[in-house]
Amino acid sequence: MTTIENTRKRAENDAKTNGYYLASDQELLKDLLEGLHKNEQRYGYPSCPCRLASGKLELDRDIICPCDYRDPDVNDYGQCYCGLYVTKEIYDKKKSAKPIPERRPLEKQGRAYTISTEQTAESAKTAIKKTPEIQTKLWYCKQCGYVCFREDPPYVCPICKAKREMFAELDVTTQVREKIS
Ligand code: SF4
Repeated sequence: MTTIENTRKRAENDAKTNGYYLASDQELLKDLLEGLHKNEQRYGYPSCPCRLASGKLELDRDIICPCDYRDPDVNDYGQCYCGLYVTKEIYDKKKSAKPIPERRPLEKQGRAYTISTEQTAESAKTAIKKTPEIQTKLWYCKQCGYVCFREDPPYVCPICKAKREMFAELDVTTQVREKIS
């Protein structure tokens, strides 16, 4: 069985091989490694701690860490979507990390959306119209307004890196569902 230490070593080795660094913020690093470890225990593979996995290997292949999007994101923004892998400049804080757009194609993202809090109800409406079978919960990050449909909030907000505790459940889906039905 893998341990969180194995997860850490694997990430460290991968970073070394590719000339990257792991997040210098030790708390963020711990949260991300814990998320990866939990996902590995849950699904059998370490899917991205900032994204919603389906639990089906064939659908989640692109978000098994290190995901298919890591290298282009590190190249363009200096860090991967979650901020686990970073460049030396970001690691040394010579450059500040900025939120990066989701590179994963929409059709693969399932039910995760990045919108502002003001748009939440509108987005929920659109999402429910598009996928009326949505039964999962709607969570929003109280720090930056990122929202996503999933059973549990992400371990770390992919946009502002706030911890899971900063996510709150939004009770808009029921109201919106009633309005549009
Ligand atoms: S975004 Fe970073 S942490 Fe998430 S799967 Fe990709 S490489 Fe791993």
